Amino acid sequence: MSTDPVTTDTAARPVRVRFAPSPTGSLHLGGARTAIYNWAFARATGGSFILRIDDTDPERSTPENIAQIISALEWLGIDWDEGPVRGGDYGPYFQTERAASYVQALETLQANGWAYRCFCTPVELAAKREIARAKGGSAGYDGACRTLSEEQSQARANAGEPFVWRLKIPVDHGAIAFNDAVCGHTEFPADSIDDFVLVRSDGSPTYNFASIVDDAAMAITHVIRGNDHVSNTPKQILVLEGLGAPIPNFAHLSMINGPDGKKLSKRHGSTGVEEYADEGYLPEALMNYLALLGWSLDGETTLIDADTLKTHFNLEHIAKRPANFDFTKLTWMNSEYLRAMEPERFAHLMVECLARAGLVAYDDFEQRPDWYLTLTPLVSERTKLLTDIAPMTRFLFVDTVEPDETARKKVLEKDPTLVERALQVAQEILENIDPENWDTEHIEAAMADLPDSVGAKPRLAYQPLRVAVAGSTVSLPLNESMELLGREKTLARIRALL
Ligand code: GLU
Repeated sequence: MSTDPVTTDTAARPVRVRFAPSPTGSLHLGGARTAIYNWAFARATGGSFILRIDDTDPERSTPENIAQIISALEWLGIDWDEGPVRGGDYGPYFQTERAASYVQALETLQANGWAYRCFCTPVELAAKREIARAKGGSAGYDGACRTLSEEQSQARANAGEPFVWRLKIPVDHGAIAFNDAVCGHTEFPADSIDDFVLVRSDGSPTYNFASIVDDAAMAITHVIRGNDHVSNTPKQILVLEGLGAPIPNFAHLSMINGPDGKKLSKRHGSTGVEEYADEGYLPEALMNYLALLGWSLDGETTLIDADTLKTHFNLEHIAKRPANFDFTKLTWMNSEYLRAMEPERFAHLMVECLARAGLVAYDDFEQRPDWYLTLTPLVSERTKLLTDIAPMTRFLFVDTVEPDETARKKVLEKDPTLVERALQVAQEILENIDPENWDTEHIEAAMADLPDSVGAKPRLAYQPLRVAVAGSTVSLPLNESMELLGREKTLARIRALL
């Protein structure tokens, strides 16, 4: 066996990449980034992107998790060429449905002299490990069952003795090396890898066996995944050698850390893609942010849309060092996308948020599109998250508003005489505006006199009116708000507060 880095054959094969989540939970940020990189790489190279569900852990894999992963990928805008829902020529795309192919692969390994039964019991193995450790040696399997003849092995199996299947690594095998697209030349000494288990005593395949058998069967050319799998790679390469199958390229992505440089976890903030959807992030902002978390277009561009990713993504620009997740930057990016959004789309999203909050009907945009398009720029430039919209605009949709605590303390209770005077003058001014002319321009012109008439600074003169209209000291611009609220409602609110 050669000790040279494994050379890959994939130049001649069309690119095929896969995202292979284990459905033991929902889709988290690291998984989403891996999916984005695989997908973008397939798109940029004109290859195929495959979604495979590694559901071999029967206890922790659930249909709910599978559904959640699929809907999170769809929400992000990631489409797959083959996989669940879509099907494809290399299916099935659930590992639990691929048992026959693992049996076949095991037969091939056996025929090639690369697999053997091991009858060592867990107790024996533990004892051996203990002794090896005490001697300071490797705690890997000592190969006791390698020397069983086929007849002995078959006889013991026939007698009902439980056994596992192990990979038979050739004794003269040199170091296992590969050229990782991210980590560069990576090498594992042959003696660092023992004859690991391929198939458990219950007949189920291990991850290191099933995963690479699937990759071979699905003609995967590039395995792009988290670098927690680097140490599995030599094992998987050995399986491929035993099968006589081509070895794909590998690209192992660095981990995602929290802002403090420690492994990203719940403690830092939300880690699930669906949580970001619920918290009011746009899929394109999250995709953009995750894409740049470990990859760059040119070292400076920060706003990169899906189309750019789909044309320019490459493996060369993937960063080797871990990326720190910056929640503030993601939120900033989200607000940039909201601001730049087509007004019609923003308006529709806004109505959806309002409808979900129970403030309007889902078809309200169709009832009064112009009204919503007037509101849109006022809201879009003040929105960081979609979840900001309902609280910010609520006062426009309810019948009456109650002054909030700040408004009561800082305005109403502070100088009741001024409040009363300001509201009376405002009422008079607004009543004099012809209902035909109830728009921001006319309201603004008429209201310009308010501070002088009240005899107070502009901020103090307008504040009571703002509280009457919106119930708060902070709100959308006052004149625009009154236009949108309408003449009757505006005057009613002033009267109510007076
Ligand atoms: N199901 C494995 C995981 O989620 C896949 C790893 C791989 O890409 O090979 O970690």
